[in-house]
Amino acid sequence: MAEQQQQIDAIANDAAAPTFQNTIVAMEKSGALLHRAQLAFGAVAGANTDPAIQKVEAEMAPKAAAHQDAIYLNTKLFARVQTLFDQRDSLKLDPESARLLDFYYKRFVHAGAKLNDADKKKLMALNEEGSKLSNAFSQKLLAATKAGAYKTSDSAALAGMSTAQIASAQAAAKMRGDAGYLIPLQNTTQQPVLAQLSDRAIRQAIFENSWNRAEKNDANDTRDTIARLAQVRAEKAKLLGYPTFAAWKIEDQMAKTPEAAIHFMDALVPATTARAAGEQKDIQALIDQQKGGFQVEPWDWEFYSEQVRKAKFDLDETQVRPYFEINKVLEDGVFYAANQLYGITFKERHDLPVYAPDVRVFDVFNADGSHLAVFYCDYWKRDNKQGGAWMSSFVDQSRLLNQSPVVYNVANFTKPAAGEPALITFSDVTTMFHEFGHALHGMFANSEYPSLSGTSVPRDFVEFPSQFNEHWASDPKVFAHYARHYKTGAPMPADLAAKLKKAATFNQGYAFTELLAAAELDMQWHTLPADAPLQNPDEFEKAALQKKGLLIKAVPPRYRSTYFSHIWGSGYAAGYYAYLWSEMLDDAAYQWFVDHGGLTRENGDRFRKMVLSRGNSEDLTTLYDTWLGGEPKIGPMLKQRGLAAAKDTQAKP
Ligand SMILES: [Zn+2]
Repeated sequence: MAEQQQQIDAIANDAAAPTFQNTIVAMEKSGALLHRAQLAFGAVAGANTDPAIQKVEAEMAPKAAAHQDAIYLNTKLFARVQTLFDQRDSLKLDPESARLLDFYYKRFVHAGAKLNDADKKKLMALNEEGSKLSNAFSQKLLAATKAGAYKTSDSAALAGMSTAQIASAQAAAKMRGDAGYLIPLQNTTQQPVLAQLSDRAIRQAIFENSWNRAEKNDANDTRDTIARLAQVRAEKAKLLGYPTFAAWKIEDQMAKTPEAAIHFMDALVPATTARAAGEQKDIQALIDQQKGGFQVEPWDWEFYSEQVRKAKFDLDETQVRPYFEINKVLEDGVFYAANQLYGITFKERHDLPVYAPDVRVFDVFNADGSHLAVFYCDYWKRDNKQGGAWMSSFVDQSRLLNQSPVVYNVANFTKPAAGEPALITFSDVTTMFHEFGHALHGMFANSEYPSLSGTSVPRDFVEFPSQFNEHWASDPKVFAHYARHYKTGAPMPADLAAKLKKAATFNQGYAFTELLAAAELDMQWHTLPADAPLQNPDEFEKAALQKKGLLIKAVPPRYRSTYFSHIWGSGYAAGYYAYLWSEMLDDAAYQWFVDHGGLTRENGDRFRKMVLSRGNSEDLTTLYDTWLGGEPKIGPMLKQRGLAAAKDTQAKP
């Protein structure tokens, strides 16, 4: 930080008149060491933390925020940027450089560079408080999630789970030094194991562990933290001249205003809740048929929907899992699809240090044999890993800094017990393709400037390459290549594969509703005005969902406010809608591929050249529409989810 501060001071105090080189390019070059340390530290803090790292994290988070403030609230520095911005038409910059100047100017203004000194001080205090609260939230949630694991010494409670799952529950208990069985919580509301457990009381107990994990009035209760954090964000937005935090946050996104994002989300509610209601009816009918004598509750949903799935599609998760051995999925699926589309190849390395024994490393080569990138993957769940799956980088691509990308994927798949095959679910398979889509966006980056490189794009665009890449998991040619029995190598029988494909739109009413509920919830937290009183999170959440017609007892949001890590602990505040927005982009994009011959090098290379390599070097609406040849529509998304009206479904092949 001290080093970057010196570099920044030298730029700000330069006696020479500002030029693009001595100001903007110089800023791009500043802080290289800090950035490198932060990326490496962020990687282990997210995927392999320990008390020492957590302590450093808590200490450094506010300092890092203050360091950023010191740069973007530097009056002399901003004056130089302002001068260049005012002269921008006469500077004769190439398009990427012009974009970078615009990027810096807006970033300064966004950070409060135009505020007077008193307001700048207020802003810095709010940023620091926000950063502390956000960090406190993450640490409380990690502890709450760990503590929320379901423990039992009674193997009968686990009736319905497979032998492998039971063995892994036993291993999980042992890892914590306990006897018996332990089922760790995933970061979502629903827990995968609820699909299998036949004892209703156990299902309810696990669900409630999940739902109430951060609302136990103990040290890990996050309610006060998020209530204040929402307030701090609203106050910050007001100071910067915006009516709400969302208005400030979304300004530089594709959607541009919260109203546009809300309008987009609201339009999806009727189709998705109608489908969820239909699914609920099917589930209730099955419960009644079995003389269950109860109304479906959220902890019943997965269990009975799995049975409805079996009845409707005769598909049993345990039948398909033997065809998804993780190494085959990675090398013959994820890597294979990328090879077919872009010509890239992979070679594993064992000579590079890794932060945990599970981590694997690959060199990635272009079709012409030149070195493209290094790819790390870390797929198994550990107690010291944040929940969910993500991609990030150790090194960002930049021609200016002469840097090749080093990227990684992290996930939380259930680790097989020792000696068991590494079989994963189709949902895990999809996650691997998803995260690898982000990885491709990072690895194909071909920008001059690091600030505009790779995945450094608006939130509502960043999930587009990843969600687009998911489509290849079920592409017939790719699927046939990786979905092979782990023992015999036989391809998945055609009827089973067909069922799996048909089942892809199954339960999408639930899946889409829980996602939409979380997205609307996020947006309502972040459209609170600054003068709103401190909220009671439980009451706020209920009212927010009710207002949108999304307060559905059996279909709770994918994340409850108190464990919604995306919006309180990482960068998705007022940005969770981006997953849905990106989905509109990716389904329209996949439709384009289908219409143009699918999995071919020609299509892949065009996509790499016009989209994946471009980062944020051009306005993304222009970039996307130019590649697609028009504006994206909502139709392909509803079709993909199986939510479209029959007429829409037939409109496209
Ligand atoms: Zn993603």
